[in-house]
Amino acid sequence: MKTLLIGEYRDGKLLESTYELLGFADQLGAETALLLVGSESQLPSYGGTLYLADATTCGEYNPDLHKKLILDAVQQENPDYIVFLHSSYGWDLAPRIAASLKAAQISEVIAIADGSFEVGCCNAKMRRSVKPATSKTVLTIQAGAFPVLQSGGTPAIRKLTAETTTPLEFVGYEPAEKKDIDLAKAEVIVSAGRGIGKKDNVPVIQALAKALGGELGASRPVVDAGWVEHSHQVGTTGQTVSPKLYVACGISGAIQHLAGMKKSDFILAINKDKDAPIGEVADVLVVADVMQFVPALTAKLAQ
Ligand SMILES: Cc1cc2nc3c(=O)[nH]c(=O)nc-3n(C[C@H](O)[C@H](O)[C@H](O)COP(=O)(O)OP(=O)(O)OC[C@H]3O[C@@H](n4cnc5c(N)ncnc54)[C@H](O)[C@@H]3O)c2cc1C
Repeated sequence: MKTLLIGEYRDGKLLESTYELLGFADQLGAETALLLVGSESQLPSYGGTLYLADATTCGEYNPDLHKKLILDAVQQENPDYIVFLHSSYGWDLAPRIAASLKAAQISEVIAIADGSFEVGCCNAKMRRSVKPATSKTVLTIQAGAFPVLQSGGTPAIRKLTAETTTPLEFVGYEPAEKKDIDLAKAEVIVSAGRGIGKKDNVPVIQALAKALGGELGASRPVVDAGWVEHSHQVGTTGQTVSPKLYVACGISGAIQHLAGMKKSDFILAINKDKDAPIGEVADVLVVADVMQFVPALTAKLAQ
């Protein structure tokens, strides 16, 4: 079984998420080749075949040109799986490659099981297993779902070049609108999840954040319900954080939330369900009613 992994490079830097592709291929037990539109000065820690195109001539992003580069590598490598990250780069390119190859596409893979790929459904409340039905399959993998794996060594480089006929020019990246708070820099984050019950309870979580000298975070349902501004959301569609202390209050631990906070140094979770998935990443799981435990902890800190 062979995989062609499509790494990512942005603003002159190799993205660390590229190593999640290697973690995925390792779990799949597949032979790997990596493709990168990047630079020889930023080679990944990887001892296999690296198809390398130069980002200064090919553009860090140009869908038509990058598609041609990938299809060239597919022809040379003949992989069973062509694997992207489920990022804006992957979202845009994966269907173009699948359509060109008449291959099936499985998006947002979160786990591998017995030759099938698991993806979330029903707003990630459930999982379904999908079995590839074509000889080649294009996959996108969910950020944070697979471990980061730096295999070490120096890649064997095969250079790729292509020309485009489409008048597209890569102009650059624009930073996202400035948020009123920058959770990425916070050393302590206390996050509210749906388990807090109602908007009126947000100040209780905010009080603990203040007592710990930290910032308020939130899971997506809390933001979607309008209880807290989106700038506080942690997760794949919110911010990625790595504070010294992360307190998850009434948060179940869905993969999209974990992807944004599992690199925190110490995770304290408060949940009334002892089997909540957040317990798998938490250093301490307090099994309690969050609205009883949090005010008691805040009061204790004030003593
Ligand atoms: C494409 C996509 C992107 C997404 N992006 C994000 C994202 O960026 N961030 C994000 O957070 N989610 C995201 N989600 C949603 C994600 O899948 C989950 O639905 C969400 O994280 C669940 O939030 P929650 O844990 O607050 O709520 P729930 O899953 O409903 O969990 C609530 C938890 O609170 C506990 N609880 C209930 N009452 C109490 C109580 N009184 N005391 C203690 N515990 C209690 C329950 O046991 C439960 O574990 C995304 C989903 C999709 C499909």
